[in-house]
Amino acid sequence: MEFEIPRSHPRYHSLVLRERLVEAFKNGIVVSQGLIAHGRGECFDYLLGEKSHEFAVEAARVTAAWFLTARHPIISVNGNYAALAAEEIRKLQEVTGAPVEVNIFYRTEERVRLIEEHLRSHGVKHVLGSSCEKTRVPGLESPRGIVCRDGIASADFVLLAIEDGDRTEALVAWGKTVAAIDLNPFSRTAQKASITIVDEAVRATRLIVREVEKLKDVEKSELKAIIETYDNRKVLAKAFKAIMEKLGEAASKGVLL
Ligand code: ATP
Repeated sequence: MEFEIPRSHPRYHSLVLRERLVEAFKNGIVVSQGLIAHGRGECFDYLLGEKSHEFAVEAARVTAAWFLTARHPIISVNGNYAALAAEEIRKLQEVTGAPVEVNIFYRTEERVRLIEEHLRSHGVKHVLGSSCEKTRVPGLESPRGIVCRDGIASADFVLLAIEDGDRTEALVAWGKTVAAIDLNPFSRTAQKASITIVDEAVRATRLIVREVEKLKDVEKSELKAIIETYDNRKVLAKAFKAIMEKLGEAASKGVLL
């Protein structure tokens, strides 16, 4: 990191994440559009008080239950997610045994390879992307629809983060159960996913790791019950309510607490 951020800075964590993205942008891992997407996410993180809420824990718990019961779970990783959370993705792979697939919107084979290298340098072991047999997500034309036949194509459960709504929707329409990490509950990804973890990608991945560790010795029937009783509409409603309450307080007092 070129610029040393003082730990005492009130936005220390947010600035660290920005630096990671800028560095990854310079290294060709993140595209310029990814920097803009991050800014949109930051805005919602502000409104959520830059912390994990109970509704994110609830969604992380059901995501963990899916990881532990799915036939073929997979972690879909794009440039932003890799740049921000490589360490957490490694831990998630360690506790779930799920493979990672590099799956990017602005696809070039060079960038797929760079992301793979970045993940491997952080200890992520099972990474698909450049050398797999390819197929396409039905309904997604252009290189953004390319996926691995033994990866996302054959998965029953996909975790993704900071994803475009069109691709999320196409995966759901393809019959996958999709858990999405997205700070913006209004986004099409948040609205279309089967499970939406409204939280920042690093914090959300830590939550999933924690929930997998808690649930790993639990009976399958109990995990199935967690899955069957989960209601994503209620979770999204709680996220909107948290934002509304924050804004309501600010609107009445003139300060954002
Ligand atoms: P959609 O296509 O789903 O309607 P969008 O046009 O905002 O949304 P993108 O810009 O492709 O789609 O996706 C980025 C999404 O990821 C945005 O919803 C943004 O709020 C969210 N996001 C950005 N950075 C983070 C982050 N660090 N953690 C979690 N979510 C993030």
